[in-house]
Amino acid sequence: MKKRVLITGASGFLGSHLCDKFISEGYEVIGMDNLITGDLKNIEHLFKNEFFEFYHHDVTKFVHIPGKVDYILHFASPASPIDYLKIPIQTLKVGSLGTHNLLGLAREKNSRILIASTSEVYGDPLVHPQTEEYYGNVNTIGPRGVYDEAKRFQESITMAYHRFHGVETRIARIFNTYGPRMRLNDGRVIPAFIGQALRGEDLTVFGDGLQTRSFCYVDDQVRGLYSLLLSDYSLPVNIGNPHEITILDFAKEVIKLTGSSQKIIYEPLPKDDPLQRQPDISKAKKILNWEPKVSREEGMKLTYDYFKNLSQEELFKSEH
Ligand code: NAD
Ligand code: UDP
Repeated sequence: MKKRVLITGASGFLGSHLCDKFISEGYEVIGMDNLITGDLKNIEHLFKNEFFEFYHHDVTKFVHIPGKVDYILHFASPASPIDYLKIPIQTLKVGSLGTHNLLGLAREKNSRILIASTSEVYGDPLVHPQTEEYYGNVNTIGPRGVYDEAKRFQESITMAYHRFHGVETRIARIFNTYGPRMRLNDGRVIPAFIGQALRGEDLTVFGDGLQTRSFCYVDDQVRGLYSLLLSDYSLPVNIGNPHEITILDFAKEVIKLTGSSQKIIYEPLPKDDPLQRQPDISKAKKILNWEPKVSREEGMKLTYDYFKNLSQEELFKSEH
């Protein structure tokens, strides 16, 4: 009998890739999403698959699934700064009430649950690179606080269910991940720069561009998450690619990749934008025997190919 897995945030970027992964590994998949930032086109290829079903549901409301559920992956949450600034209360609710509902379901069904936490729990980090032992530096009342604190609460309630109710839990601290199916207008730097290059616009670097990020290709991320779910480790694990780059150098790489003649222009740095970010992945290497394999050059080519094939209508659609 196939194992049955519930994936929340299924029509989003990471959730849709996870649905594909679990179908290809022989699981029965239940995707759940309220489509607030996701898009059904990311999973429409699965609708004909007899082992895939979709629930259009908001996880902040009581979650009911008939039958057994072996695993739960809780990925529902706005994830880009402009999304969570636009819907701050929903962001807090999905991390808190949504996580509570899913932990309750895990307890009832005796499922193992993996929650999607984030490098944002480290805030604007004073320790570099970030190890799982670092407690973070988050401005609770700043604009990004709605996301960071929702995720920090999510980790706390997950550990409480683990310790108090004995629920089998896994916590992935996901660092910036990219690839096909990101939303062109979600404001995150990779779709932003590629979209600008494709539309012939200048690339907008925020601040002086000397802030750093470390970008992980989606296939590596999904492989890491899958290993973590199947491991027996219940404390948080960083999953990301440690190759760090400044945003300015990254903008130059995108201009080279896309062969565009656009300039770089500078815009103000958003409040509390972290100055540096790089995962220490020693724990993932040791416990999961995992490390990323896809170079930024390779991953960016694959991502650019995806965005290049979008229609002109999608390319010029503005959401904001
Ligand atoms: P995404 O916006 O593409 O996907 C999120 C999905 O969750 C969307 O389909 C959205 O409609 C759904 N959703 C939001 N609120 C919901 C609710 N109340 N009920 C049901 N569905 C809801 O974002 P993503 O990049 O795929 O991120 C997925 C998860 O991974 C998030 O929890 C995010 O915090 C986490 N994460 C992602 C990254 C990254 O770099 N992509 C980094 C760290 C953490
Ligand atoms: N950024 C930028 N120009 C853009 C979008 C983002 O310079 O058009 C910067 C942003 O200020 C941040 C970095 O790129 O320093 C990564 O931003 P993203 O929103 O992708 O992720 P996060 O800040 O959540 O890591």
